[in-house]
Amino acid sequence: MKIVHFSFDGKVKYGVLNGLTIQEIEDKPFRHIKLTGHYYQLEQVKLLSPCSPSKIVALGLNYHTHARELNLLVPDAPLIFLKPSTAVIGTGDNIIYPSVSARVDYEGELAVVIKKPVWRVAVKDAMDYVLGYTCFNDVTARDLQNHDKQWTRAKSFDTFAAVGPCIETELEPNNVVVETYLNGKLKQQGNTSDLIYSIPEIINFISNVMTLLPGDIIATGTPSGIGAMYPGDTVEVRIEPIGTLENPVVKNGLSKIAARV
Ligand code: MG
Repeated sequence: MKIVHFSFDGKVKYGVLNGLTIQEIEDKPFRHIKLTGHYYQLEQVKLLSPCSPSKIVALGLNYHTHARELNLLVPDAPLIFLKPSTAVIGTGDNIIYPSVSARVDYEGELAVVIKKPVWRVAVKDAMDYVLGYTCFNDVTARDLQNHDKQWTRAKSFDTFAAVGPCIETELEPNNVVVETYLNGKLKQQGNTSDLIYSIPEIINFISNVMTLLPGDIIATGTPSGIGAMYPGDTVEVRIEPIGTLENPVVKNGLSKIAARV
């Protein structure tokens, strides 16, 4: 099942996508999914980020190929960092290039969406707390990441967390191809079978640090092939069967969040 979050005629709703048709659901998709009799055509609506996380927990260095590319040792525990909820954008939204950076990179990733509150879950029970999976672009100001002693600034600009286009609930996450395209050219191609820490291990590890809430996102790390993007580029993260997360990169602009301030 593909869960989408969309706006239509000024109202924001959740629905289930079947082909090009969306069937609206009642309320949010986390507890039960109750379909309504209201239908929309995909072309009529604006897709939004498929969930509104209270936080994004992201993995650094979680693919063997990426560790080799950077000539780094495999970490002896998952390396986690946070991205703020204010960085979230959906498919089609602009990634705004900050004026203080001269090197902004794409990082295509498979993301996990949490279904219900979870704290200190065992590895064997962790998958019970997963609603589904989505595409994620962990946009990173690489020059600032290298300059600063820690990663918060580099990872946290408004528009630096692209999520979408849907939450796919029926995905086997252990053997999924994650691809990133820049202006239509393939730049990253990894398989989640190459993950250093598996999804249940990651959920176990993070939930022993912090409570995860419905809609929270775990970005599972990026495969090899990271690289720069510039204003005027279009970046896509493609994961079948989830779909394509596509975002233009622009030089100037105001995020939707900042525009409301
Ligand atoms: Mg990343």
